[in-house]
Amino acid sequence: MRADQIIERILVDRETLHRRLAELAQAISSDYEGKDLVLVCVLKGGVTFLTDLMRQLTILHEVDFLAISSYGIGQRDSSGAVRLIMDLKADIAGRDVLIVEDIVDTGQTMDYLLRLFQAREPASLGVCTLLNKPSRRLVEVPLDYIGFDIPDEFVLGYGLDFDEKYRNLPYVAVLKKEYFDGLPDET
Ligand code: 5GP
Repeated sequence: MRADQIIERILVDRETLHRRLAELAQAISSDYEGKDLVLVCVLKGGVTFLTDLMRQLTILHEVDFLAISSYGIGQRDSSGAVRLIMDLKADIAGRDVLIVEDIVDTGQTMDYLLRLFQAREPASLGVCTLLNKPSRRLVEVPLDYIGFDIPDEFVLGYGLDFDEKYRNLPYVAVLKKEYFDGLPDET
């Protein structure tokens, strides 16, 4: 189906995304100047955000990836468990780690990641999320950089999928309610 058939409205357009990313990149570049920065990206949703963000950073950094699967968490259900599918390649002990995520919803995924990485004793551990749904939070997680606080609606585009598609949309959009009702509980 074409994107315009399933989208209710555009929530964050591409110019607004671009402007906010420049601000975030400037803040991160200044905060991590002279540090041993590793950007850690959660596949797959965070990839678009990461690649646009890193191109605007003015400091040296590395990137690394991990993949997780989430059962019964995310927008539809909050009972969740998170499982590691692919681990980082980098040893993060003693390094300055910044997790780059697409969205923090209930907070359970981020809570899992923070515990996982903290145990590896990085020099510092921070979080940068493009989107934040504070009204859905079940677990409090510290967020150092937030692109946009958004309402409790299912969003897609700019890396975020609906049924594994539409990640390529250059904006963040709200899914029409009728399609949201058809989403499975498992994300
Ligand atoms: P959590 O509830 O653990 O904070 O978020 C779990 C995951 O649910 C997120 O990483 C994301 O993959 C997914 N998720 C939560 N809200 C949305 C949304 O509005 N749209 C999409 N596409 N995924 C979401």
